[in-house]
Amino acid sequence: MIKRRLGQIARMCGGQCDAAFADIEIAGVGKDSRQVEAGSLYVPIVGERFDGHDYAAGALADGAAASLWQQDKAVPEELKEAPLVFVDDPLAALQRLAAAYRNELPVKVIGITGSNGKTTTKDMVAAVLSAKFRVHKTAGNLNNHIGLPLTVLQLDETVEAAVLEMGMSGFGEIELLTRIAQPDIAVITNIGDAHLLQLGSREGITQAKLEITAGLREDGLLLFNGDEPLLHAGLQKTVLPQGVRTATFGLSEQNDWSPAQIEVEAAASSFSVRESDNWHYAPAVHIPVPGKHNVSNALAAIAVARSLGVPEPDIAKALQAGLTLTGMRIQPVAAFNGAMILNDAYNANPTAVRAAVDLVGQLSGFRRKWVVLGDMLELGPDEDALHREIGEYVTPDKADALLAFGPLSKHTADAAKPLFAGKDQSLIRHFEDQEELAGFLRSELQAEDLVLVKGSRGMRMEKIVHVLEAR
Ligand code: ATP
Ligand code: MG
Repeated sequence: MIKRRLGQIARMCGGQCDAAFADIEIAGVGKDSRQVEAGSLYVPIVGERFDGHDYAAGALADGAAASLWQQDKAVPEELKEAPLVFVDDPLAALQRLAAAYRNELPVKVIGITGSNGKTTTKDMVAAVLSAKFRVHKTAGNLNNHIGLPLTVLQLDETVEAAVLEMGMSGFGEIELLTRIAQPDIAVITNIGDAHLLQLGSREGITQAKLEITAGLREDGLLLFNGDEPLLHAGLQKTVLPQGVRTATFGLSEQNDWSPAQIEVEAAASSFSVRESDNWHYAPAVHIPVPGKHNVSNALAAIAVARSLGVPEPDIAKALQAGLTLTGMRIQPVAAFNGAMILNDAYNANPTAVRAAVDLVGQLSGFRRKWVVLGDMLELGPDEDALHREIGEYVTPDKADALLAFGPLSKHTADAAKPLFAGKDQSLIRHFEDQEELAGFLRSELQAEDLVLVKGSRGMRMEKIVHVLEAR
């Protein structure tokens, strides 16, 4: 963060501080009393099971220069003389502070939302922009109402472009984030069915993602996945800020950025890029991640980079060599016996599972292709049917085996079984016990087998990967 005095901070977040403290210099903002940076402002977050105010004294003792304080809470004796900024609600104050701070910065902000692919696209955008700008990106998956403002407050005078992931689980959340980040470019990666439970329908999900336009700067750019009809329809009903332009990327040809000659391998993909009517990037762009969905994510990154004037050859180079992806998103892992795992245990929902199964289907040259799926959680009342649909999607042309784990995944296995009539049905199985599944797979795996492992976070499918990993 660029240093601010406490008096300024108080004004920016709508709080009050004693004039005696107004000149204290603040060099950062944090909410974790165990990781206090010297000279920072401590923000006490009030959670269900904890109250950050209890740790304010500790944070100040550890080097924080000041703390926010919720004004209706009594100040304990030990903090009576401390540099406190009194606010209505520390979390809301943090968000106001971040918005005001962002407003003072000349950096280009790229905000990224969508049901799937946010983190991957964020990492790709950061990689391509690094060819021309000094970039700061959301660390890991810190994409919510706390992580995003804290990320904004990390930006300092050295940063020229900030790539911010925006996540949500209900209406109004992306709007809050985009009003803080005020992006110059907003990206919507796709519309899936994550958070169907909270948003009711895919139209609802679309509307929630389109909230990102509310904070777009005037004359900004909205880049969205043009393969999704709901986004075109939703946009018709969305009032965009003055001067905002829109452009599309996606796998089909009518998009402003689309691919041609896609080649998908187990650990990589390549494609050439068509930008409106002009062919670009011949020969192909190589990305060290598999799957057509990642081609779509890369196109989003290319569109951002082109819009900000990054030269073509630098973009291709950055995607091939400069990509640092966050873990557990279709990671190729060597398994024992010479088999290969695609570890996608980070999370799952129907769209993402179909994308991963498609990838398995596109890969050739394996003895046997195993799809190992854990339950998809938080899908709402249609969860049984959505699992059955996934089972119907795992057809013998895409995979040789389906091992399902968890109570809901019983439906997945049951739906797949009839499709494998005439094949080895013992390879379409449901397990109630994860260790049993891993043991079975371990006894079956051979060289030149491919195993996709995927499931919702709560299913901890990485435990299966750990059992199978080559050591
Ligand atoms: P989260 O909501 O957990 O933050 P995310 O949107 O950041 O997720 P990623 O972490 O980038 O998404 O990717 C998660 C998984 O989603 C990937 O492993 C892949 O299976 C799938 N995925 C990634 N991109 C796409 C896409 N464009 N379309 C469909 N599925 C995708
Ligand atoms: Mg993410």
